[in-house]
Formats: sequence, structure tokens, C-alpha cells
Amino acid sequence: MNANGKPKLAMYWASACGGCEISTLNIGEHILTVDAVFDLAFFPCIADFKVKDVLGYPDGYIDLCLINGAIRNSENEEMVRLLRRKSKLLVAFGSCAYEGCIPALSNLTTRDATLRAAYLDNPSIDNPAGTLPQPHTAVPEGDLEIPFFYHTVKSLDQVVDVDYTIPGCPPEPHQIWAVLQVVVAALTQGGSLPPKGVLLGAGSVAVCEECALAKHEKAVARFYRPYQIRPEPGLCLLEQGLICMGPATLSGCGALCPQVGMGCRGCYGPLPGAEDQGMRMLTAIASILDVSGRPGDNELDLERKVEAAADTIVDPAGTFYRFSMAHSLLRRARTDGVEAAVPQPAVWS
Ligand code: SF4
Repeated sequence: MNANGKPKLAMYWASACGGCEISTLNIGEHILTVDAVFDLAFFPCIADFKVKDVLGYPDGYIDLCLINGAIRNSENEEMVRLLRRKSKLLVAFGSCAYEGCIPALSNLTTRDATLRAAYLDNPSIDNPAGTLPQPHTAVPEGDLEIPFFYHTVKSLDQVVDVDYTIPGCPPEPHQIWAVLQVVVAALTQGGSLPPKGVLLGAGSVAVCEECALAKHEKAVARFYRPYQIRPEPGLCLLEQGLICMGPATLSGCGALCPQVGMGCRGCYGPLPGAEDQGMRMLTAIASILDVSGRPGDNELDLERKVEAAADTIVDPAGTFYRFSMAHSLLRRARTDGVEAAVPQPAVWS
């Protein structure tokens, strides 16, 4: 805490959708406690702070800085490096900061292809001149500069040192409040902080273990997209052929999605000890495939059945790595030479 008052709180939004801020404000009346305990030092979503305010703070001035969003462009990187320097505790808040989330799905393609899809080949775009964003544009008033769009989306810990991580897309409000209580107690009453590097605001088992749907032995011959079948209520979705990432995803959300008939998307990230969430899910899928042979089937017949079942999984990379691409073993699709050829702008340190 700073000698002259309350602990300082910051929250910055890198490449993200804004859901993390909404979830933070959804802690309800506890927001009054946050207001009573902290002084806001930087929180562009709800208060009019400028970057020059942060530049003027001494190093370590901010006691707790929550960063949501992936590192997609040079502005994101500059800001998180600056906030790291100005903060005592830096938290990767939500799936984008933790493991790249939806923005990192563009790691399956190239920077140029992403820009083409957004600005040229998009049916809702009217861009007859084929204009693409340029880092610098000369105008009569001078040089206009916009952030440089990176080739590869990174998670926060791939750019700066991170003290804690809160998973979720977005993190559930009750989990956010539980974490804030621990930090507030440490900052104001001398309580102890959790060990550096731990995941906060999550369970320790798979989503399946907190899912109330009835489970039986699974044997699935094909998979369906959510619009293709009406699942039987009360019964495990994966058993019914709907992809559910519950077996490969960390608990903590209360298994909210399966309770309303939507398979877990995997947003709380991998289980402890599982380095790659998608790989873990593939293992789970392999263990439930129903390829029971008929008399006379040979190995080739079985292989065809496995392939036929696998072919019913639409967009496997996007399905199994929807949230975790930047942090997975894959990290990105191979585009040899492209990264090196993309000029990386200088950033503040
Ligand atoms: Fe697990 Fe999903 Fe089945 Fe629930 S619906 S038991 S989370 S696989």
C-alpha cells in the first residue's frame, strides 16, 4: 500500500471483448467494498484515466493490476510492459490474458490472411479501394499512427512476468470476489498472499465433477453440433454425442453451460498437470468412441469407423483449442519465415 492512502487498483483491457469488465462489475454490492478499500489508479472502462497518468506514477505505485485480454498488437504490449513496471501485483485476468482465448484462434492462420478476412473478403465490408490498416499514414496535419497488428497472438505471461492468474471467459463474479477478498485482506489486514504463480478463483478438478447431469458409460459413434439434436434433459451431453469439454477443463464455473444444454466450451483452461487442453480432450474422445466391430471386421474396417466418427467433429482445432491456442503445445500454425519477416516495432520497457 502507498504511504499516503488506500491501495491502488488498476484494470486494463488488452485484446478482449469487454466481458471481463462486465463480470467484475457483476460482483454486485461488493463493488462498494472495492470502492471503499481501493483508490482507482487506471481503469479506462469505467473512469477517464490517460496513459500519461500511468507514465507519471512511480514504479510499483499500483498495488493490484488486473489485465484482461490477449496481446494482439503493439499497443497491448506497450501497455502491459508499462503496467508491469508500475504494479506490485499483476494478474492475468480471464481466458484471453491467461491463454489467448478467441483472439488466438487467428494463430491458425497468418497476419495477412486475418487482415484480408476482416477488411477485404468480408461480405459486410464496403472497401472498394482495398484499404488495409497501416501503422503510419501521412495526413496534412502530420503522421497518424495506429497500433501494429502482430502475426502471433500471445498470452500475458508470454510477454511479462505474471503473479497470479484468474481463468474463465469471463471469470465468474463469485470467483472474482473470492480472489479480491484474499487480496484485500492481505493488503489491509496483513493477511498472507497466495504463492506466486498460482491459479486463483478456480476449482481443482474437471468440470464433469461439478456437473449435475447424469453420467453413464459413454460409447459415441458420431458427434453432433448443438443445432442438430435436442439433447435429452438431465443426461450428460457428451454421452449424447454433443462435444463437451468438461473432461478436459478446470472446474470453478459451476458447470453452467452443460446445465442449459450447451457443452462446456473449455474456458477455464486445462486441468492441473495437463499441459495441453486440446490433447487432453482428444484423449477423452478417443476413450469413448464406439467403434465396436462386427464379426469379420478387420483393422482397416475399424480405422474407417474411427475416421468416420472423427469426421463428424467440425473444426477440431477451433473446438478443442477455442480458448487455449496461444498457451497450447501448438501455439500457432506453422508459417515458416513469416514471423521473422514481420517487422516488430520497438515497445516501452
Ligand atoms: Fe462432463 Fe459435459 Fe457430461 Fe457434464 S455434460 S458430465 S461436463 S461431459
